[in-house]
Amino acid sequence: MHAAPGLNSSQVRLRGHENSSAPLTGANGRVTIEMTCTHRKVHFNMQIAQNSVVAFHYTLTNDAGEVLDSSEGREPLTYLHGAGNIIPGLEKELEGHQSGDKLQVTVSPEEGYGETQPALVQEVPRDAFQGVENVEPGMQFQAQTQGGPLMVTVTNVEGDTVTVDGNHPLAGQKLNFDVEIAEVREASSEEVEHGHVHGEGGHQH
Ligand SMILES: [Zn+2]
Repeated sequence: MHAAPGLNSSQVRLRGHENSSAPLTGANGRVTIEMTCTHRKVHFNMQIAQNSVVAFHYTLTNDAGEVLDSSEGREPLTYLHGAGNIIPGLEKELEGHQSGDKLQVTVSPEEGYGETQPALVQEVPRDAFQGVENVEPGMQFQAQTQGGPLMVTVTNVEGDTVTVDGNHPLAGQKLNFDVEIAEVREASSEEVEHGHVHGEGGHQH
């Protein structure tokens, strides 16, 4: 695509917009630029920043190469950037990237789900599980703690003693993410206010 004589600087910026079928030169020989064209350009090149809504595919593996989680075969994960909705180490690395980017991110426990805290592993009496017929390893319960509700996982049952672990299952682990960014858009003011994404992949309210 060649620039016509007399282009001003803002029009020159659009040179190289070769995927667009919209004619840049009008019938009168003057350059015309359609708003939809510039809008799409901005949309597809939008970089992840504060208050971006980001949709990305990921595969999470541990250091042994085992797949712990993946969005493969599902909708991409959608989140509001800069609102602390995903782990800090991943959020930080996604910043500045754009749709179509593929990246590998390694996240340390400090920037992931935290170090394992031995104090969160506790033995509680079987009686604490009133109304639960069979307490078995792997079951999860919400425990009331001084710091608020905490999700705990039963790790061992021995006689009348049940061991529960309040650490996140991924605490203490180095996490390896294979990421492909599917879409980046600006959040609506309502999404920013709520601190989460609405619509597809987000809150439905
Ligand atoms: Zn909301």
